[in-house]
Amino acid sequence: MIRIAVANQKGGVGKTTTAINLATALAAIGWKVLLVDLDPQGNASTGLGVPHGARTRSSYDVLIGDASLVEAALPTRVPKLDLLPATMDLSGAEVELVALDDRAHRLGRAFDAAPPGRWDICLIDCPPSLGLLTVNALAAARHLLVPLQCEFFALEGLSQLLQTVERIRVAFNPELAILGVALTMFDRRNRLSQQVADDVRACLGAAVFDTVVPRNVRLSEAPSHGLPALIYDLRCPGSEAYIRLARELIARLPRRAEAA
Ligand code: ADP
Ligand code: MG
Repeated sequence: MIRIAVANQKGGVGKTTTAINLATALAAIGWKVLLVDLDPQGNASTGLGVPHGARTRSSYDVLIGDASLVEAALPTRVPKLDLLPATMDLSGAEVELVALDDRAHRLGRAFDAAPPGRWDICLIDCPPSLGLLTVNALAAARHLLVPLQCEFFALEGLSQLLQTVERIRVAFNPELAILGVALTMFDRRNRLSQQVADDVRACLGAAVFDTVVPRNVRLSEAPSHGLPALIYDLRCPGSEAYIRLARELIARLPRRAEAA
């Protein structure tokens, strides 16, 4: 199973929107996809139309309890896309994890125990922090995808994220690598957006995906309908951008057989 963490400790930069829509695009081409909601806010779960009452087992039970991924994952309205939902319990997990010896590896262990072939790829939607939940995601993943919002402080905090990645690589996951940085919420009427995009490319070079996700109201409406934008409005500019981004992402992944 290919494992991708979608992380940036800033809130509101497009992590969840990116995770939901890339997961949907990959499921649409026939991949068996698992989206792990690792944010106590549960936005990915809500955005995929899984109501609180349906979240009987959650990422909390996998991290802190002994639920397996297979037991806790739910099917979604999107064929081939399963969700490990999040509940508010998860906000206590940061504290509860501290007491556990294998605190950084709980998620990775759960992935290792999943039956081979059950899912082709897993996307982990991280919370807006660099705490133990995000550390679990980075320890469990081989790839990191960083959404960056095209606004003035886009690069601020990135060095902190990269330091965390480096620490995790050295301490317990040498394979962890940056798959790419995705520019989000690009507003072409705003000169600052272009300036930020140029600066980010100058700074990070080829790590930045060519695709830029535009600011698009359809992307922000879709979650209130419990649907990925790709299903809510396949033809809107936001959906089209996520389809292009999914193509780029696939091109950057190791061949599926090697990654299995
Ligand atoms: P994060 O998970 O990083 O906190 P979200 O994906 O939840 O960020 O996005 C924050 C808010 O911005 C949400 O309300 C979301 O619907 C909206 N949003 C995300 N991407 C876009 C976009 N490209 N255009 C317009 N609104 C967006
Ligand atoms: Mg989010």
